[in-house]
Amino acid sequence: MPHVRITAGLVAGLIAGGAFAAPAAPAASAAGPDVTRHQAQIDKIVAEISPKRIESYIRKLVSFETRHTMSETESDTRGIGAARRWIKSELERCGAGKLQVAFDSHIAPVSARISRPTEIVNVVATLPGTQEAAKDRLYVVSGHYDSRNTDVMDATGKAPGANDDASGTAAVMEMACVMAKHQFDATLVFMAVAAEEQGLLGAGHWARQARANNLNVAGMLNNDIIGSSRADDGRVDNKQVRLFAQSIPATKEMSEAVRQLVATGGENDSITRQLARHVKEQGERYVKGFKVNVIQRHDRYLRGGDHMPFLEQGYAALRFTVPNEDFAHQHQNLRTEDGKVYGDLIDFVDFDYAAKVTKVNAAALASLALAPAAPKDVKVRTAGLTNDTTLVWAANAEPDVAGYRIVWRETTAAQWEGAKYVGNVLEATVKLSKDNYFFGVQAVDKDGNVSPATYPLPLR
Ligand SMILES: [Zn+2]
Repeated sequence: MPHVRITAGLVAGLIAGGAFAAPAAPAASAAGPDVTRHQAQIDKIVAEISPKRIESYIRKLVSFETRHTMSETESDTRGIGAARRWIKSELERCGAGKLQVAFDSHIAPVSARISRPTEIVNVVATLPGTQEAAKDRLYVVSGHYDSRNTDVMDATGKAPGANDDASGTAAVMEMACVMAKHQFDATLVFMAVAAEEQGLLGAGHWARQARANNLNVAGMLNNDIIGSSRADDGRVDNKQVRLFAQSIPATKEMSEAVRQLVATGGENDSITRQLARHVKEQGERYVKGFKVNVIQRHDRYLRGGDHMPFLEQGYAALRFTVPNEDFAHQHQNLRTEDGKVYGDLIDFVDFDYAAKVTKVNAAALASLALAPAAPKDVKVRTAGLTNDTTLVWAANAEPDVAGYRIVWRETTAAQWEGAKYVGNVLEATVKLSKDNYFFGVQAVDKDGNVSPATYPLPLR
């Protein structure tokens, strides 16, 4: 096939139902539910995200002067203890009766960045899913509420952390408060975590507990430094956000699952990359004129974030961060040198920009939590030499699943280029060569909510 952009229309008629195909459906429903139309609920959520409230949250967080993980905890107006009690009370107030708000606490022993045993406290607000078959599927969104100075061990000096990461914490609080007024099939977990700067300790604790308790975390979005639109050279870019998406964690040993992925060229189709595709598509659908710029690596050089412990536990996890950074405004003591202002001050935060990134998050989370799970046991038949592609998969458990959708792209493309609804079947054949395209299978519910895609492993 020539190098052309594949569209659903171009290949209409190239799809043949497989062994489990239902009798021919009437023409009106052959295309399945409309997966491109806006969901009214998501439009409403995106519209409700408020730059003014995000500003007020950031101002309040900055007012605690420092939120260093080892700062004081007794005061009601200064330090990390006051900050986390305020975050918790605010979430309890706005999510009354809907959000389950709790501290998730553990004692971190002395380590490279912890000078004395320290209580590390995450503030976790859970919005339980309402569909029996989906409520055990979790989507986590986080920001870290701790802050730091030039010296990461300085627990007393002023560290406003307005952008890093009051902005991400404010985004999480705003989403929790707005989304608590709505219902979702799956469960949403809004998390303000501590000790990111001391070594990702709060997120690491939660992610390890999640794995130990076999929690189905189907996706995690980390918001860290999402509030500034101005680069160090003065350029302003308020029309995009970076989304860092790792392929597969760089472990010493390759798991069998990863080996199978790499063996078939699927390293760009890991669960994290599938999540990134979904977040980009949904985020850009609902936030007009705003680009989600997927960066295919785990994070920036010399930096890390709270998505990394989730990646280490085998979960799909992504990091949002601003398009351009000004390093004079991160991890710096407040000071002026040669007329240049250093420090993470609220003056450098663009609240409208932070709200746009929050809207992208909210749209992605809402679409994920309304949609069915990504299909399981997706396989491509490879027993014989053929020039088409037969995919099989297991049935989803959700009662509102209408059917399944096969998506594909050329092997060098980043986002899906073609799609075909195949109905409520568990096998279908596409008249395109499995050797020349990457395929995925998505589940679609009756309202047109579509899951992320699952990559097919070979079935011999
Ligand atoms: Zn940070």
